[in-house]
Amino acid sequence: MNIIVTGGAGFIGSNFIYYMLKKHPSDRIICVDKLTYAGNLETLESAMEKKNFKFIRADIADRRAVYRIFEQEKPDIVVNFAAESHVDRSIENPEIFLQTNVIGTSVLLDACRRYGIDRYHQVSTDEVYGDLPLDRPDLFFTEETNLKTSSPYSASKAGADLLVMAYHRTYKIPTTISRCSNNYGPYHFPEKLIPLMIINALSDKKLPVYGDGKNVRDWLYVEDHCRAIDLILQKGRVGEVYNIGGHNERANIDVVKTILKELGKPEDLIEHVTDRKGHDRRYAIDPTKIHTELGWEPETKFEDGIKKTVKWYLEHRDWWMGIISGDYQTYYERMYDKR
Ligand code: NAD
Repeated sequence: MNIIVTGGAGFIGSNFIYYMLKKHPSDRIICVDKLTYAGNLETLESAMEKKNFKFIRADIADRRAVYRIFEQEKPDIVVNFAAESHVDRSIENPEIFLQTNVIGTSVLLDACRRYGIDRYHQVSTDEVYGDLPLDRPDLFFTEETNLKTSSPYSASKAGADLLVMAYHRTYKIPTTISRCSNNYGPYHFPEKLIPLMIINALSDKKLPVYGDGKNVRDWLYVEDHCRAIDLILQKGRVGEVYNIGGHNERANIDVVKTILKELGKPEDLIEHVTDRKGHDRRYAIDPTKIHTELGWEPETKFEDGIKKTVKWYLEHRDWWMGIISGDYQTYYERMYDKR
């Protein structure tokens, strides 16, 4: 099997590549990544040593480049992780989100239409459903929940999902979509909540928490997400959407306190900063469909996953030090120091 993994130099895509190389050593993985600020070739160093892995630097919105890749690599499967993924950046500059997340997805789908494909899988997010009220713990997102986006990021991901559905219906492209809750684990870019808090705490810097910190996210260890996508590729029904989440809801402030406890750092490092515009209050996934149809359930408890993640950041300082020293500093100052 030739599998194109787009966005494989980023957080979840790289974890998925390592998962697949280990689980399916006879498959060939071709990573297609533009290497934006969020993509990092160092992350793929060990994969580069494998004969059945190839890296191609390309923009998924570049039609000529994508068609050339399809002609050369003849993929059987495409798994699209490539995206602009940070909500805060989408609030600052929505355009690139439309370009990559919407136009990029349409180019990949057109390539599938032109050259044929056994499966196109779109990696989506629970953010396409908007948010849930904090005082209704009985409510969850199901695959039938209406799309009701809050940020330019989630709107662009919802746009991509709708295109995938349309290409399935109109052109009979064999597609699947997964909508996952918040991931955490190794290789997570330092701008996101969990790595940001670990890295700041390690340097005794203030931990900027938006608003009251009571916003709730449903956290999933990244390997559980990778295993779910692999299962969907093998056994998922074409044309379907699968929600992925582990009934693991935590308020942001509690996640931050857990990290501080894990690192033996004081809670007075926490600093509440001006809330994100349009900040979603609660995300919570109902994973019944993927559980009953495909037998998937999360294997890593949050308590264990967060320990593993903190340990990984402690042992991979070179990886994140390289990132936080460059352009990231300017971004950080704009986002937090000047609030
Ligand atoms: P990330 O920002 O860490 O990585 C994105 C990768 O895509 C980077 O390597 C980047 O270089 C690449 N990329 C960006 N634009 C590109 C383009 N035009 N062409 C080719 N490559 C491009 O993101 P992530 O957190 O790993 O998320 C991966 C996917 O999973 C995204 O589609 C995201 O919407 C989705 N998702 C993420 C989460 C989460 O918690 N992180 C949860 C649910 C869904």
